[in-house]
Amino acid sequence: TEALSSRDPELYKSITDELGRQRHEIELIASENIVSAAVMEAQGSVMTNKYAEGYPGRRYYGGCQFVDVAENLAIERAKQLFGCEFANVQPNSGSQANQGVFTALLQPGDTILGMSLDAGGHLTHGAKPNQSGKWFNAVQYGVRKQDSLIDYDQVQALATEHQPKLIIAGGSAIPRQVDFAKMREIADSVGALLMVDMAHFAGLVAAGEHPSPFPYADVATTTTHKTLRGPRGGMILTNNEEIAKKVNSAIFPGIQGGPLMHVIAAKAVAFGEALRPEFKTYQKQVRANAVALADQLMKGGLDIVTGGTDTHVMLVDLRPKGVKGNATEKALGRAHITCNKNGIPFDPEKPMVTSGVRLGTPAGTTRGFGEAEFRQIADWIVEVVDGLAANGEEGNAEIEAKVKAEVEELCKKFPIYPNL
Ligand code: PLP
Repeated sequence: TEALSSRDPELYKSITDELGRQRHEIELIASENIVSAAVMEAQGSVMTNKYAEGYPGRRYYGGCQFVDVAENLAIERAKQLFGCEFANVQPNSGSQANQGVFTALLQPGDTILGMSLDAGGHLTHGAKPNQSGKWFNAVQYGVRKQDSLIDYDQVQALATEHQPKLIIAGGSAIPRQVDFAKMREIADSVGALLMVDMAHFAGLVAAGEHPSPFPYADVATTTTHKTLRGPRGGMILTNNEEIAKKVNSAIFPGIQGGPLMHVIAAKAVAFGEALRPEFKTYQKQVRANAVALADQLMKGGLDIVTGGTDTHVMLVDLRPKGVKGNATEKALGRAHITCNKNGIPFDPEKPMVTSGVRLGTPAGTTRGFGEAEFRQIADWIVEVVDGLAANGEEGNAEIEAKVKAEVEELCKKFPIYPNL
């Protein structure tokens, strides 16, 4: 019964500090969002106490009648949202969703073909330090030098040469739409399965603001916490009954034990929200805001990889200003604008330095920013970057302090979690 604040003041302070940070800073990390109070309420519920190994109606534990309701709601809403026949909502993360598919469809040593990390793919798509790169013969495709778009000719050539069992489309820093039909054609030409990892753009797909992986993909994976605006977690979708069965066994008992029922409950809430008409309006605005942000940054003298974005995310090429990604991330942080350094295609700098930053609009759009606010944010970014360019790594403290004060004013006008 004792409140967290008195029971564990040290930990409590970390939470209130984090709330303050989220309230007072502009969040531009493309993979983050601001969930509703309802999603948090479900996630902070008694469902965290429940063991529910297995699936609804087929559990290894008693007392699962109510968590079954929650999981079935999540499954049914996910299917409706993405127009597919099957959903496994148990993966604890996007990485475990991908691992689940690999466990379902592959054997150690099999060949997979995914996008390389430095071109915009994800670690779990076959990168060397990841299990996917250690346990499989992982071949990696990239983007074209001339326009930084996916090199489908290379994908075809690598597929023909290496005969992968699985081809992966999607990634973490892809500003343009992936041509799923083309990827399907390539997969078919070598008899490979096609997995689309829509972790980043799932919310856009759900709202009809991005093409769906279906009917092209054999299986699709996603996180639930990025554009989809749910709790931290993962999900696997398919229309293929045989794959569905294998996926269920792969997640449990293959790679996970008891599912996080409180998170699954929160997924159900988020999917319910995503089925509402407001979610379509939101995702339209996410895209419009991204276009405005990219356009204004280019007006300020920065380059945008591929010259813009079709989605929620963009890669800023900082080289025209002669500054690095790591220093820019830090300088913007001092001005209360949060983003991450990110390698750009063919980046001459090391991964811990980089020539770019990755920016996204999902979180800012959730708090109510429109195109005017995002153009203002772009101007602030350019001011801070120009300060860095003129003063070296320490940046310009005066400009950063001025921008920070303006950022806080803007954040006050668009409050989050008023009741916390
Ligand atoms: N797949 C893609 C494309 C991602 O961008 C991410 C997250 O960064 C993941 C998978 C992994 O998700 P998680 O961080 O939940 O393991």
